[in-house]
Amino acid sequence: MSGAHLWRGILEEYADRMPVTADTPVVTLREGGTPLIHSEELSERTGCEVHLKFDGSNPTGSFKDRGMTVAISKAKEAGAQAVICASTGNTSASAAAYAGKAGMTCGVVVPKGKIALGKLAQALVHGAKVIQIDGNFDEALILSRELADAYPVELVNSVNPYRIDGQRTGAWEICDQLGSAPDVHVMPVGNAGNITAYWRGYQEYSADGVTDRLPVMRGYQAAGAAPLVLGHPVEQPQTIATAIRIGNPASWQPAVDAAAESGGSIRSVTDREIIAAFRLIARHGVFAEMASAASVAGLLQLHEAGEIEPGQRIVCVLTGHGLKDPEWAISGAAEPVTIPADRDAAARELGLEA
Ligand SMILES: *Cc1c(COP(=O)(O)O)cnc(C)c1O
Repeated sequence: MSGAHLWRGILEEYADRMPVTADTPVVTLREGGTPLIHSEELSERTGCEVHLKFDGSNPTGSFKDRGMTVAISKAKEAGAQAVICASTGNTSASAAAYAGKAGMTCGVVVPKGKIALGKLAQALVHGAKVIQIDGNFDEALILSRELADAYPVELVNSVNPYRIDGQRTGAWEICDQLGSAPDVHVMPVGNAGNITAYWRGYQEYSADGVTDRLPVMRGYQAAGAAPLVLGHPVEQPQTIATAIRIGNPASWQPAVDAAAESGGSIRSVTDREIIAAFRLIARHGVFAEMASAASVAGLLQLHEAGEIEPGQRIVCVLTGHGLKDPEWAISGAAEPVTIPADRDAAARELGLEA
């Protein structure tokens, strides 16, 4: 036995559960295999065993890569020359990278001025054609669907079923890492594809006897963009968590079903709660993006409401990396100090005593 196992990406690691054949050209950047990080801080606060599934460590910095490797591989298999997507940022970053790897043309439609700089940079460096619209994500998705209907271009938003197929792997990895399914699964919800995918993943592992239980699914929207909580679309969704700034989720019904069937819920957290959660995990070494922090904010809200039992095993998904939006992170942090390049001056600043 060599002892070494190099992660091959989700299509090869979970080949027997994926919609691929020997003829499928696998387009991969070795996505998935992301860390499950035990959080001492959150465990202590809640009296539970809390783990953070850090999907910000995917190749393009978000979980979108799990679905994109499948969607782009299948598009290539079908002979597509070009792909299109609407995006709040991370889908376009991922689509651009995988299309680049596959040698395909990529078009992305984004709401003007509403996507984080890092995400825009990614789409541009990977060579995507970026179209900004004076409109929100929901309008960008309608436009992208119309293009895919009328022209020879493959839509790679999460309405593309291959995206959801790939995103199921997040659930399988968590089960494989823990040796069982968690008691409670907490995650942010935007267009609602990911919660749909996670629930399917957990259900399949359970149905096949790989795991002996199903988690309670707890989804969190931002309070200013919470259509699933309100029960109707939101015309002008507002939140600092741009990745979940969505007013009319494409996977509405499956997300609501996932919450109901699992005995869970879809609720909302305020931007204030999101920022507090963001700071808390950042202080403890994990730099996730604002939308991701909605899961931790949700856990803290559940704890405060007395709705989680001590001793439970809980996973919060952190969907994207904090470096996507450094401007925002810096704006809320303390200014660095400037001193002469002197040992004792530096020691004084650090509060060190000889
Ligand atoms: C896309 C995204 C979400 C929302 O996922 P949905 O599948 O749209 O619910 C949350 N966080 C981040 C970082 C994302 O990129």
